[in-house]
Amino acid sequence: MAKTIDRVLVKRDPIGNEIPVVFDSPHSGTHYPDDFGHVAPMARLRKAEDTFVEDIYEHAPAKGAHLLGALFPRSYIDPNRSLEDLDPNILDGEWPEPLAPGQKTRMGHGLIWNICDGAIPMYDRKLGVDEVKNRVETFYKPYHTTLKEALDEVYARHGRLWHVNCHSTTSISAPNSPEGKAGIHRADFILGDRDGTTCDPAFTAFVRDVLASLGYEVKLNDPFKGVELVRAYSDPASERHSIQIEINRTLYMDEETLVPHDGYADLKANITRMIEAICEYATRT
Ligand SMILES: [Zn+2]
Repeated sequence: MAKTIDRVLVKRDPIGNEIPVVFDSPHSGTHYPDDFGHVAPMARLRKAEDTFVEDIYEHAPAKGAHLLGALFPRSYIDPNRSLEDLDPNILDGEWPEPLAPGQKTRMGHGLIWNICDGAIPMYDRKLGVDEVKNRVETFYKPYHTTLKEALDEVYARHGRLWHVNCHSTTSISAPNSPEGKAGIHRADFILGDRDGTTCDPAFTAFVRDVLASLGYEVKLNDPFKGVELVRAYSDPASERHSIQIEINRTLYMDEETLVPHDGYADLKANITRMIEAICEYATRT
């Protein structure tokens, strides 16, 4: 069973018995819409993608979990931001709703990015209000609705839920990165639970231990704590747990050319082991 919205998302259901685990990959989409209208070179723009992450988690349904992936690129509209997190200065007119742009947004990485690959301007124009509204209605909202439906349905059936929000990261920080400066090397994996607020800290520790046992260096909430998708639908007190997992891109591809390297299959096999461990944890907890 699968749900597909053309050029927007693909949602795959568990094969066999459902386990209350939902994986989502919001940033691995590579279908660039015709009306994007960017001036940044494609190679620079594509650095914003979490390329191949949905494929790396491909075996989640075979382990009993749900898997959702976006097909549109996060540089077009970012599902991991709130709808208020929009910089009004990038628009050519008045936005009809109240806005509350955050710090990342002022650095060019809000709901609609205007800076990519460190410091490259994405546009030579202001964006139309209707143009951005279309990105919200056609891409952002269906992604959130589909994720929320999957989470709510699983929770209704099981009374508990583990949501794993799947990403990848550049290996070295950029000038506008949360580290505050360029050139900082990142760990193999960075787990984010917004400082223990989006899932049971025991679950974060469990995932950390699984990855460490596979030989990886793992950091917690440093420098990425998780953003909107782990915040929006989590409630650990009610057994709704969300965690963000960032994979260092150098574990599976050349991060300049986005071409998978020899380590891709090993990394994917280890992620499959992690998926299996998470599904076992969700079964016994
Ligand atoms: Zn991401």
